[in-house]
Amino acid sequence: MPEQEPFMRAPTPAPKRTVYTDAMQIFHRAADLINLPPRVRLELEEPDYEHIFYVTVRLRDRLVPISADAARAFADLPATKLRNPDGLEPLADGKYILNGRALLGSDVAIRNGHLRLPNGNVYQLVVGESRRFKSYRVQHNQARGPYKGGVRYHHEVSLDLFKALAAEMTWKTAIAEIPFGGAKGGIAIDPRQYGKEELESITLRFMYKLKNLIGPNIDIPAPDVGTNSEIMALMYRQYSDGERERHHLRGIVTGKDVRIGGSEGRNKATGQGVAYCIEDYYTEKGESVRGKTFILQGFGNVGSATGEILASMGARLLAVNDAEGTIYNGDGIDVPALLAYVQDPKNLKRSVAGFPGARRIERSDLWEVSADMLIPAALGGEITADVAERLKVKLIAEGANGPTTPEADKVISRRGIDLIPDIIANAGGVTVSYYEWIQNKRMESWTEAEVNQKLEHAMKKNYRMIRDIARNRPRRTEMHDSRPLCIGQPVDTRCAAMILALKRIAAHYQLEGFSQ
Ligand code: NAD
Repeated sequence: MPEQEPFMRAPTPAPKRTVYTDAMQIFHRAADLINLPPRVRLELEEPDYEHIFYVTVRLRDRLVPISADAARAFADLPATKLRNPDGLEPLADGKYILNGRALLGSDVAIRNGHLRLPNGNVYQLVVGESRRFKSYRVQHNQARGPYKGGVRYHHEVSLDLFKALAAEMTWKTAIAEIPFGGAKGGIAIDPRQYGKEELESITLRFMYKLKNLIGPNIDIPAPDVGTNSEIMALMYRQYSDGERERHHLRGIVTGKDVRIGGSEGRNKATGQGVAYCIEDYYTEKGESVRGKTFILQGFGNVGSATGEILASMGARLLAVNDAEGTIYNGDGIDVPALLAYVQDPKNLKRSVAGFPGARRIERSDLWEVSADMLIPAALGGEITADVAERLKVKLIAEGANGPTTPEADKVISRRGIDLIPDIIANAGGVTVSYYEWIQNKRMESWTEAEVNQKLEHAMKKNYRMIRDIARNRPRRTEMHDSRPLCIGQPVDTRCAAMILALKRIAAHYQLEGFSQ
């Protein structure tokens, strides 16, 4: 035998640790425990498809504030008298979009591309340029049904993150027992830096490129961080405009406004699902949500809905933070008043910061507030091992996707803090998305009471399955049968949830086999 070339003997490098490898640790643990067949494991280990594409748009002209120092050179510049102040669209970063005829007919004084607004500040006029945005759609698995998952508009996204979030959707749809697979995608963009019409152009262009890859029976997007029912409406229009059977295409996106085919209850569904899990958790202990205290991270769609529902059930919100600030009130924060404050159009950052019914605390102090529950409802990776050591709560219900790192998981379990993992806790959103999709297919519209009744049943039934697997408590009740799912030994709740997902997905491969 000739001696091998040296490069052939190089040791295989250790796989790099990424958000995706972190997220998949629990998959591998559960797969080992149930002896998942190797080919099924290979199928699920990586996504079916990873799409990366680019969206280009022409931005509007902007007025960009300049520093006080730079403004001194314009001390004698008179203020521009605006005829049409509504044409100026304020952005969260202090800039203004100059829409259409904002300056038309106004008494404009511009010097070296600068002008002074009636508010007294000097701005540089920056002419709109074309810009390119990196966009993604990861389709992880469709063994159980069409790909399903949200669209995220955020500046900190990556292929790796979308792979992790898409895989989470595969597990979640299986746990929720709805006939979908998993997907996720979005655009690397901070939406707060763009005007309404710019976001419309970006969204339309995004859907224009996405159209080839998705469909109401292929892959169905929904809102996620930075997107909402307005963005879904634009996506629906772009997908269906000019199609002969336009109204049969309503199910192309879920999370739409109820007036255009959305489902009653969808807006609050994720928070409602978190609340149903928490309620069931306390019911099993013979306790009630009433009188319990909680802290929240994130006050967007999921955080605010969870907060509102828990407060209406008699729980007290002690502290909440978002990207802009953290607030605390030991007597309890008035959640409806906080929501009105955040949604006030004058609150450009949509932030809890400055809410008069609470006092400001440091961001990191949130974790040390003593309460019964913590509901993370912001971004992933926020509960690190260090944070987990400092927590003074008894239960964590994960409203956000992937908020807890694998190291933090170990600390949480060592410290005896109970956990309702994301793939069940926040499955309410996708479950009601499924109801919306069915209503669209049937051209029906259900009442909020019908939706919530079905949602409550689905959430509690599947959460009970997970607790039975965790405790190795095979049983049959009126609501559920966990006998085929328990594995003969107790496991932690996160692992139990993954076992439930994998058993349901694996059944498809085992019974249907593989196309060659
Ligand atoms: P959103 O954009 O409506 O709100 C996000 C919130 O997080 C905002 O309040 C924002 O200020 C806050 N935030 C951002 N960065 C932060 C930081 N560093 N520290 C503290 N707060 C921060 O998004 P959403 O739809 O409410 O989603 C929140 C989480 O829930 C995400 O992890 C998302 O994937 C998950 N989720 C959403 C849905 C849904 O139906 N919208 C369903 C399931 C899971």
